[in-house]
Amino acid sequence: MSATPFSATYSEARARFMGAAAARGIALASHVIPDIEGREGEALATDVARLGPADAKRLLVLTSGTHGVEGFCGSAAQTALLGDAALQARLASLGVAVLVVHAINPYGFSWLSRTNEDNVDLNRNSVDFACPLPFNEGYEALHALLVPPQWPPSTANAEAIADYISRHGEAAYQHALTTGQYRHRDGLFYGGERPVWSTRLIKTLLAQHASHCTQIGWIDFHTGLGPAGHGEKICAGRLDAAELERARAWWGADVASPLDGSTIASNVGGPILDTLRTSCPHAQATAIAIEFGTVPLVPMLHMLRADVWVRRHPHAPEATAIREQIRAAFCFDDPQWQGQILGQSRVAILQAALGLARMPVEAR
Ligand SMILES: [Zn+2]
Repeated sequence: MSATPFSATYSEARARFMGAAAARGIALASHVIPDIEGREGEALATDVARLGPADAKRLLVLTSGTHGVEGFCGSAAQTALLGDAALQARLASLGVAVLVVHAINPYGFSWLSRTNEDNVDLNRNSVDFACPLPFNEGYEALHALLVPPQWPPSTANAEAIADYISRHGEAAYQHALTTGQYRHRDGLFYGGERPVWSTRLIKTLLAQHASHCTQIGWIDFHTGLGPAGHGEKICAGRLDAAELERARAWWGADVASPLDGSTIASNVGGPILDTLRTSCPHAQATAIAIEFGTVPLVPMLHMLRADVWVRRHPHAPEATAIREQIRAAFCFDDPQWQGQILGQSRVAILQAALGLARMPVEAR
């Protein structure tokens, strides 16, 4: 393995993360999904490290792989942190503990898919399933077109999608798809019908590690949205104006939010960050996703259509090639792009710790 923390596969990413932990004597807890294998026949696990003072009142959570195939960047940032003695010392001196959650959706990471073993999008799954689920009218009109019988789509299908975009606009197309839907298990951006394994695990981890913490920050690493190499910081979900203000104080005025219309990202229901807001009412939460840009929006959505097509046709001869195309749309093998990601991630981690350190720790 080379010195770069970027990997080509989930199993390589997991081995690098575990190797970086072992090299510095950091203990890991591994949570394996039962009875499901990865693309190479490997076990599928979420590995968790906790750094810093055990009694810290301030906790920073770092998650990678919420959207499976997007995990290569977050994994690299986490592995770099485990090997970064200077940054770890700085975080500890600020009294900040760090919960490093590697590959929260290991199935999607391994199989190069956005969704989990149930085709559930983890960022649509943290809703209250006891309440009526949102109905996405825009998606209903598009569902049949989005995943055609053959891939690549026929000319007629491509024209129908292009026609939709020209009539309604790119933003409406994006909104119809990405807001999430709860009716089509084999569709895109499907939110599920109950909390899935990964959602239950993150809640368990918060109960284990965050119950005595009063200030909790969270960075959830993503890729695929925005200009290539640029990390757009997004504060979305069930946040209030005070959380957005805090996020901007910590990470900069360019933190974008659907709350005030400063991002093109839809304010989706049920992002994973909401597990913190709903299950840790004893703590003040300040949570963002960072989206590192790769390819433009419509080609990115095209790859997510391909993702669902492959899940329906896993044994098709072209499945392997399509999966690699999907991976290439969510992580670039360009060293400069990778360097941009590592640099911005390190800054964001330090900013979070500096922000947490300034917060009062009295119980709420
Ligand atoms: Zn994502």
